[in-house]
Amino acid sequence: MSEKFTGSFTQQEALPEAAIEAALNVLRHGRLHRYNVTEAELGETALLEQEFAAQVGAKYCLAVASGGYALATALRAIGVKHGDRVLTNAFTLAPVPGSIAAVGATPVFVGVTEELTIDLEDLAAKADQASVLMLSHMRGHLCDMDRLMQICDAAGITVIEDCAHTMGAAWNGVASGRVGAVGCYSCQTYKHVNSGEGGLLITDDPEIAARAIMLSGSYMLYERHLAAPDPEVFERVKYETPNISGRMDNLRAAILRPQLADLDRQVERWNARYQTVEAGLRDTPGLTLVERPQAERYVGSSIQFLLLDWSADSIAEVISRCARRGVELKWFGGAEPAGFTSRYDSWRYAAAQSLPKSDRILAAILDMRVPLTFSLEDCAQIARIIRSEVGTVYQAG
Ligand SMILES: *Cc1c(COP(=O)(O)O)cnc(C)c1O
Repeated sequence: MSEKFTGSFTQQEALPEAAIEAALNVLRHGRLHRYNVTEAELGETALLEQEFAAQVGAKYCLAVASGGYALATALRAIGVKHGDRVLTNAFTLAPVPGSIAAVGATPVFVGVTEELTIDLEDLAAKADQASVLMLSHMRGHLCDMDRLMQICDAAGITVIEDCAHTMGAAWNGVASGRVGAVGCYSCQTYKHVNSGEGGLLITDDPEIAARAIMLSGSYMLYERHLAAPDPEVFERVKYETPNISGRMDNLRAAILRPQLADLDRQVERWNARYQTVEAGLRDTPGLTLVERPQAERYVGSSIQFLLLDWSADSIAEVISRCARRGVELKWFGGAEPAGFTSRYDSWRYAAAQSLPKSDRILAAILDMRVPLTFSLEDCAQIARIIRSEVGTVYQAG
């Protein structure tokens, strides 16, 4: 009898009691709109921004309706216009190229390496094609950020970081989101803090911050922000920046604040689970783990491995055998995307590109969520199941 895993890959933990208390408090007073505050009151949303800015060491922070909204707002705030070209990852999630399309710009895709990071050689080769890079730290993998910034600085490229999977991560001790001109985070249920939907945007640039705040729908109430530039910066932009409402509300901010305060502890818990799965998969014949660089502090909220140069049929066989034993693997390389799109050739509003080196890697990526509701024993069991099914199919092939 082979063992079967019975846990759920989509079940998150309950929110902490402090978040539930804070939510009830907001519900009881009813002031959910971020600018609906009493005389002396500091609203939950403004406090969230102030606390997150301090946590990552940024000057300014804006809380918004979603991670994708934060990305599009960042593009608008740095001045990307209709028809511009924006460099971005060939391997990322749909909201990333979607944010580029939202401002009428065109994505130019940069390849992916076996480390699942942006291909810096391909980036250098394409550096003259755009003046903005929307850099996605897809699935939490950080590229060599020092080298990346050398390339971008030399080419005059402004970098926006998509930190949907790297909230809590760092490169050489610098928090993810603090290297580019703007860092964007998602607070959607499957990221590192959970408000259902939500996003955060950070920057040290006062003009970008003021424009982003106006864009998000601050009306003329920007002085109620606690992590915003001085009012004179708004004077310069307030009549020429359109309102494209996408504010965060006080209810979501209230439940996020206690979660952010607890982020480091959650990162430890994710990484203990990640490392248990990783240890269980190590040295499985035919399976390539993604080794994490020394300089990277990662958050193991999901794990990826490669079945490089396997046939599509064999990979599909591994996935279905694992599924029968309760282990849900996502395959980014399937001919038809399932559940969501993560690959450049799925975004056909952009001009078709050919990235053969990336195609080989994309075809090989398997991905698994590591929810905190899994115990370490669960993680060890999941790794045993994957290992045995990969082994069975590998030997047969
Ligand atoms: C989730 C995610 C986003 C933002 O998603 P929203 O659902 O809009 O918050 C951006 N990039 C990546 C890679 C993501 O996974």
